[in-house]
Amino acid sequence: MTESPGRKSLIVSLHDAHPGSRAQIAEQVAFLAAYGITRSSILVVPEFHHRGSVLQDKTFCDTVSDWQTRGHEIVLHGYFHDRRESPREKLSTVFWTRLYTNREAEFLDLPEETARQRLERGRALFASLGWRATGFVAPAWLMAGGLTNLLAEMGFAYTTRLGEIIPLLPGLNRMKASQSLCYSTRAGWRRLASALWNKHFYGRLRGTDLVRLSLHPRDLEFPLLRRQIDQIVRASLKRGFQPTTYGDYVAR
Ligand SMILES: [Zn+2]
Repeated sequence: MTESPGRKSLIVSLHDAHPGSRAQIAEQVAFLAAYGITRSSILVVPEFHHRGSVLQDKTFCDTVSDWQTRGHEIVLHGYFHDRRESPREKLSTVFWTRLYTNREAEFLDLPEETARQRLERGRALFASLGWRATGFVAPAWLMAGGLTNLLAEMGFAYTTRLGEIIPLLPGLNRMKASQSLCYSTRAGWRRLASALWNKHFYGRLRGTDLVRLSLHPRDLEFPLLRRQIDQIVRASLKRGFQPTTYGDYVAR
């Protein structure tokens, strides 16, 4: 692949922020700040795994507000991030619900009305805390077919999938195909496979104008992954990739 002219962007997203992962996300924010990266997209789950609302944890809410004040973007990331109350699993979705994810694909097959209610609840909660929910990212990036239309109708500016960024408002940038780097940490073989996979993908992405790096709360705990994430961030900055958020990326 040839080097792209023009502006090059690095979008780091920190997934699954909720009171139980606050310390890990805070460490990731500090990890990024050490490279001078003060803009990332932080994906917050309003009621992670039905364990109660973020509103019950003032320290968490204040921390997230502080991240937003410092330039990070706060993104709505599902509502419960689990499949309790979801439709019964069909054989056609079992791969996604059980193997690809650990029963986290909340928005994979929700009826439209339920999806709308959860999005409205999530957005109202964000508004009550002063967090701008410009974008929505579905848990594990898995969405029912009509969800992008619903998100557009509700005024969300963008959503993303593992392989693309989807602007939703008229007049914004067109859909952008770009594979996000992302790790699976549930088992040793998954971590090793992810490191090899991401090395391969980074080799291709560094010649394009966009690198997306998606981190989950435990990623930095594994030395193999931490080393690689460090290398990718350093190499991207050295090559002139500018850190930005999804919200700013789609708005320009
Ligand atoms: Zn998630």
